Amino acid sequence: MPNVGFFNKKQLHQVREAVSAAEDLVSDYYKMSSAQWLRSRYEVRTAGDLESHEVVDGPFAQVLGYRACPKDASLGSASYDLYRICIQDSTILRVVSTASGDLKLFPFLLYVIVHELVHIVRFARFQQIYSCAREADCAMEEELVVHALTRRILKKISVPGLEQVFVYYRKWWADKK
Ligand SMILES: [Zn+2]
Repeated sequence: MPNVGFFNKKQLHQVREAVSAAEDLVSDYYKMSSAQWLRSRYEVRTAGDLESHEVVDGPFAQVLGYRACPKDASLGSASYDLYRICIQDSTILRVVSTASGDLKLFPFLLYVIVHELVHIVRFARFQQIYSCAREADCAMEEELVVHALTRRILKKISVPGLEQVFVYYRKWWADKK
């Protein structure tokens, strides 16, 4: 059983704060005319609200794509892509509590959520022009790009504890220019 821990009320509040800050940063970076564009395309769920197939062992979060349909739409019309960021509370809590006090929850959440939002923007905007010879290479290559973008976006702001999160993720850009 991978998932046994859940964020408490105070930690869930930090998740909401991190989502809102991440949304602003990513919208700003991609010069989206309205943060609404992004907001209408995704939702964030933490462990307490995940379906069993949305729980994974290993990653701190994953993005799943769904085909959504507005409740009042007539049959077959107006369906759209909806991405769900599935945050894995227990994996995050574990790393934050075992990193000898170096990692703080809020900056870590901020990194994870900006990272997932960058994935979503890239899925939504560039998926069709993105192609690779092999799927595994493709995923790894995309992952490196997303980490580099995440860092670039977060470098613009000053949040206590963010530097330690960069240190934690440094292997993802150590060999990148
Ligand atoms: Zn990723």
